[in-house]
Amino acid sequence: MKSKILSFNLEILFLFGSCNLDSWFLVHMNLIKVQNLKKDYVNEDVVTSVLHGLNFQIDSGEFVAIMGPSGSGKSTLMHILSFLDRPTGGLYEFEGQNTKDFSDDYLAELRNERVGFVFQSFNLLARTSVLDNVKLPLIYSKKKDQDELAKKALESVGLSHRLEYFTNQISGGEKQRVAIARALVCDPAVIFADEPTGNLDSKSGNIVMEILQKLNNDGHTIILVTHEMDTANHAKRILRIKDGNIIADEQVLKRTIASPDKELVK
Ligand code: ADP
Ligand code: MG
Repeated sequence: MKSKILSFNLEILFLFGSCNLDSWFLVHMNLIKVQNLKKDYVNEDVVTSVLHGLNFQIDSGEFVAIMGPSGSGKSTLMHILSFLDRPTGGLYEFEGQNTKDFSDDYLAELRNERVGFVFQSFNLLARTSVLDNVKLPLIYSKKKDQDELAKKALESVGLSHRLEYFTNQISGGEKQRVAIARALVCDPAVIFADEPTGNLDSKSGNIVMEILQKLNNDGHTIILVTHEMDTANHAKRILRIKDGNIIADEQVLKRTIASPDKELVK
């Protein structure tokens, strides 16, 4: 197993303000870097070019929404960033390392230990308890006190009272919160959420965004895929993608902060 000691690109910035007594110390960790990233799907003789050479960087602690219309390549990009697929061209660096050099086994290990996933369709095991669903990613890890870790993750999404329920006995919003707890349980470097509010009503979607904002405030890096403007506005930065190209990369100036009295605008 490769060393867990991660080589971050550390960019340390000393910023001295106009007032001599004021100073800031900023540590900036580059988590994801893509350069000229391309993806072609090849089915028999047909080649479909989906990503056409993307360039961007995401640092630890960011909350980024990848936004674009259906078919623009959002899920394809997400699958590459989360090691479910490999690019067909360009560079993808994760925590300062070129992922091209990673074996399939090591990618599987990264998928299990360094990233968490939340999908539109929840992907939970039915007829299995909430607690056991959250414990699943721990099966391959050597972590101790797995029950405690899973309970703690469920507590952070407000579901301590549902531990023994089967996942077919809870609401859609609660299912997505279980999926978030499962994504969190291995303490990943980044949580990827692909249209996490897509199958939810406005109230449940709002709760999911509130939880993602809280996790980000606690230091978790979140990369969210959505085609909904209101959902994207909960992030701190929006990468807009259209027809496989990044067409804008902007900070969210008027950020929506989710609170219990709100609903998502769909
Ligand atoms: P989004 O998530 O933005 O809706 P996708 O990444 O799912 O977009 O798809 C982008 C494009 O790639 C679409 O035109 C889709 O049909 C195509 N595509 C996705 N997966 C495959 C595949 N396995 N083989 C061929 N084309 C694919
Ligand atoms: Mg998609």
